[in-house]
Amino acid sequence: MRTSTQVLAAILGITILAQVVFGAVAYWITLDSSRDRRIEMLAHYASEILFEWSDSSTAADSPDILDELQKKYHLNKSIILLRDMKGQLHTVGIEGELAPGLLSEINDQADKAGGIVEFDGEDYLWSRVENGQDSLALVLLEPVSLVEQAIVSKLGIRLLVTAGVVIWMAVWVALLLSSIISKRLNDKNLALRHQALHDNLTGLPNRNLLYDRLNQVRLTAHRKGQCFALFIMDLDRFKEVNDTLGHQFGDQLLQEVSHRIQESIRENDSVARLGGDEFAVVLPDTDQDGAIQCAKRITRNLESKFNINDVRIEAKASIGIAMYPDHGTETEELLQHADVAMYQAKQSGSGYAVYNQALDSHSVQRLRLMGDLREAIENDQLSLHFQPIIDLDSNKIFKFEALARWQHPEQGYILPDVFIPMAEQMGLIRILTLWVVDRALNVCRQCSVAGYELNMSINLSTYCLQDTSFPGELRTILDENDVSAECVVLEITESALMNDIKRAREVLDRLHNMGLKLAIDDFGTGFSSLAYLKQLPVHELKIDKSFIIDMDKDESNTTIVHTVIDLGHNLGYRVVAEGVENEHALEHVRGMGCDYAQGYYFSRPLPEEELDLWLQESAWAALTKNKSRSAS
Ligand code: C2E
Ligand code: MG
Ligand code: MG
Repeated sequence: MRTSTQVLAAILGITILAQVVFGAVAYWITLDSSRDRRIEMLAHYASEILFEWSDSSTAADSPDILDELQKKYHLNKSIILLRDMKGQLHTVGIEGELAPGLLSEINDQADKAGGIVEFDGEDYLWSRVENGQDSLALVLLEPVSLVEQAIVSKLGIRLLVTAGVVIWMAVWVALLLSSIISKRLNDKNLALRHQALHDNLTGLPNRNLLYDRLNQVRLTAHRKGQCFALFIMDLDRFKEVNDTLGHQFGDQLLQEVSHRIQESIRENDSVARLGGDEFAVVLPDTDQDGAIQCAKRITRNLESKFNINDVRIEAKASIGIAMYPDHGTETEELLQHADVAMYQAKQSGSGYAVYNQALDSHSVQRLRLMGDLREAIENDQLSLHFQPIIDLDSNKIFKFEALARWQHPEQGYILPDVFIPMAEQMGLIRILTLWVVDRALNVCRQCSVAGYELNMSINLSTYCLQDTSFPGELRTILDENDVSAECVVLEITESALMNDIKRAREVLDRLHNMGLKLAIDDFGTGFSSLAYLKQLPVHELKIDKSFIIDMDKDESNTTIVHTVIDLGHNLGYRVVAEGVENEHALEHVRGMGCDYAQGYYFSRPLPEEELDLWLQESAWAALTKNKSRSAS
């Protein structure tokens, strides 16, 4: 039943019930008072009749006079019982033999002059008058039903009229109310439906509505033989934005991004937010060229910086494109392939990528690995290895470099070159780095307790340099492990540092002011601007291992190594040679004046539990005990 009908029925029901109750109460009150009034009337008629009867000289001889008096007072349905002065009973309206019984019932109520008595299955009102002088007594009875009928005929019409008016009004009120209520309910239902199918933050369709639309577009495309495109896109480094600038800022950025996406598409295209920083776009009746044009338009529109709360920020997106029917004919298949294409786009950094089956298995594997990495980081499944760095003056260990390791339960050892960029891409690098710092400083502290005063080199992602809360977090970890900031060298790869040098500057200065040292890692692989380099609080240059390893094969590498060592010294830096794999390489870099060396020749990176043994047994560790850190 519709709501309006229900409201109408409810109000009418209540009105009718109220009418019935009201009618019944009115009837009983009226009946009660009418009975009393009628008994008084009967008393009056009885005394009139008794008077006229006793006045009539022939009364005793002519009992018909009672009949006449009954008619005279219009008491047609009443009973008259009269006891004359001789004690004889005269009756009207009752069979003679029944009269004594009725009279005795009335006489039982000797204390009353009137009331109600039941006789022969019917209720009667009665009234008694007596003439003590002539010992005459008269009882006048009248059926209660007469009073009732009179009330019904009088009250019934009024009640019917009132009920009619009230019900008529009730119908109008009910109609009015029901239209208001059903409108409100309708509005509420529409709002709930909208909420269930749309994203609260951006107001865009959500995943459910996207599936719906995608199915419709797919069916239309199938019927008309058209193709269409599905995009899955997400923002690069969005987690970093959230972590560093706060969720509110991130939310505003998502809203702005959703506007820009909407501005980049046609009217009959649709965009949905799938959650987090992930969006989907459906382009009906579009071929691959059209889809690529649109993807370019979206990335172009996102290129110009967003201004949120006076912070100017860019939001780069990676768009994965899957085409119907070439890359799938089912909704799920298209979604999955667009997702894979998105990771292909992310990996290549091209902004967009059309699904490529040849790369699919790799991408799916990578997606799975990314999920596993999140678990590994969150469940503390990574470990650290430590590689010694030797001071070429003393030929003894000067410090360790902490290197992260991931032993995957099924795929075995995963290279840091694979999982570190993944962690950066997934926004997990901050927590991974803080974990590495904590573990490495803990080991540094243990070495110190064991008598080895060693420094610790820790690799830092450039993402950490965008995070202004990072120096504070590092301070806390240093304090917790009771390690002095001077013992820590933070290594940042040259290429990463140069990509974002301006933003990194502030954090680098703060780290330097805290007493931490900075090393440029893999030096020679990037394109450092020497002008910039000179301004940075750098302490150490680490020549990339590829130059050292290949020195023998390629003369130009020797020249590069030599030049870098001189350059570093001229700029006032210490220089480390990475990738020293044999004695020949060691002597070569030593001859060129290099300060420190690191490589398999001294040791491969060691698991934490083997450190102690290495420190005790290795020639490079002997005499290191209790050596002060002044060498730095
Ligand atoms: P890196 O910081 O330049 O570390 C030195 C890399 O060279 C290490 O590779 C080490 O095992 C390798 N190596 C050392 N000596 C030799 C040698 O004589 N010959 C050869 N062929 N290789 C040598 P690994 O451990 O695979 O690390 C690779 C890169 O991953 C590191 O390069 C570093 O950039 C990154 N990485 C490792 N752990 C972390 C971490 O905790 N955080 C960050 N952000 N990056 C890390
Ligand atoms: Mg390093
Ligand atoms: Mg390196």
